[in-house]
Amino acid sequence: MTTAEIKEMATKYIMNTYGDRQLALVRGEGPYVWDAEGNKYLDFLSGIAVNGLGHCHPKVVEAIRNQAGKLMHVSNLYYIEPQAKLAKLMIDNSDLDQCFFCNSGAEANEAAIKIARKYAVDKGRSSAYEIITMHDSFHGRTMATITATAQTKYHKGFEPMLPGFSYVPFDDLDTVAKAITSQTCAILVEPIQSEGGVNVPGEGYLEGLREMCDQHDLLLIFDEMQTSPGRLGAFFGYQTYGVIPDVLTMAKFLGGGTPIGAMLAKKEVAESFVPGTHAATFGGNPLVTAAALATLETIVEEDLFKNVISVGNYLEEKFTRLQELAPIKEIRGRGLLRGVVFEIDAKPIAAKCIENGLITICTNDYVLRFMPPLNITTDHVDEAYNIVSKSIANIT
Ligand SMILES: *Cc1c(COP(=O)(O)O)cnc(C)c1O
Repeated sequence: MTTAEIKEMATKYIMNTYGDRQLALVRGEGPYVWDAEGNKYLDFLSGIAVNGLGHCHPKVVEAIRNQAGKLMHVSNLYYIEPQAKLAKLMIDNSDLDQCFFCNSGAEANEAAIKIARKYAVDKGRSSAYEIITMHDSFHGRTMATITATAQTKYHKGFEPMLPGFSYVPFDDLDTVAKAITSQTCAILVEPIQSEGGVNVPGEGYLEGLREMCDQHDLLLIFDEMQTSPGRLGAFFGYQTYGVIPDVLTMAKFLGGGTPIGAMLAKKEVAESFVPGTHAATFGGNPLVTAAALATLETIVEEDLFKNVISVGNYLEEKFTRLQELAPIKEIRGRGLLRGVVFEIDAKPIAAKCIENGLITICTNDYVLRFMPPLNITTDHVDEAYNIVSKSIANIT
């Protein structure tokens, strides 16, 4: 089918939640994807931070093929070997003790919200159900997670929101201290706000949240959907800050392109989930856990953390040169989660980049965001840079 044919069919039969999607992508290999007409694109978005090993990594493809021919799905009424191995690998690489599997980021945050409330009840604080979240955060699209997402544009038309959330500005410890009450049970925060504009917290912020949580007996929950695994240059993003959360959620890149989410917790917190308290039909099924296991093994075996740091630094250095071509405030982010912050509307630049063969996205109107596969080289960065500078020249 041609792009036009796919577009016509999709527009007629699929609800219009994504607007005009510009491309129909039909094939991928490494950091490249091809559209229905055979045009090639360098993918510096990786799904949205999903294809962290690039497209169709041979080890992930092989794991999926093998598992699909062996056992695709059984229910969580039974033990599942790749699920157990995946959990062990994640826990061995973390400071947390147990995990729960689901299918997406929003579901991982739902599980975190539920366990935070349940843990407070189990500790005899049944009126402590409120979770503090940050302005410009993003935590998902279910009712609880849009409520957790402190951006009114996601709430509009869906009110009333759920009770039990309060909002404070990101990277501001004083307002958090004032927002804590006897009803608070947890603080939920992204170590870097990605959707919100690649907002990196200042020195001491996450440490400060940790201290407040310890003082007031609150859980510190990190939403690491985009910062784990590997994207900041360590297995988990929190390890690059040296601040350990009580609960951590992840999804996106975890399954190497298959849908899986996970919520990890310290043992004392994990014990609040007992039979009957939470479940997911597909959560951690054999197929997706085999894919996730192959994904994580590859990151560790190939020690991609080093590559993330060196290529990430190179990207920052290289893209700083764009300041000669356009009004740019700063390049921010860590590892391979980076944003170029323009002083002009970046949406047309992002659209032009796609036309010129680079997949990227504009977030928060002014930020061009890059989340390339973790195994890219400096040559790919040069290629992306050339396309971005050409696109800027096309527009300005
Ligand atoms: C993408 C994302 C989510 C939601 O994940 P879904 O898999 O789309 O439900 C939640 N939090 C953050 C930080 C995300 O980037």
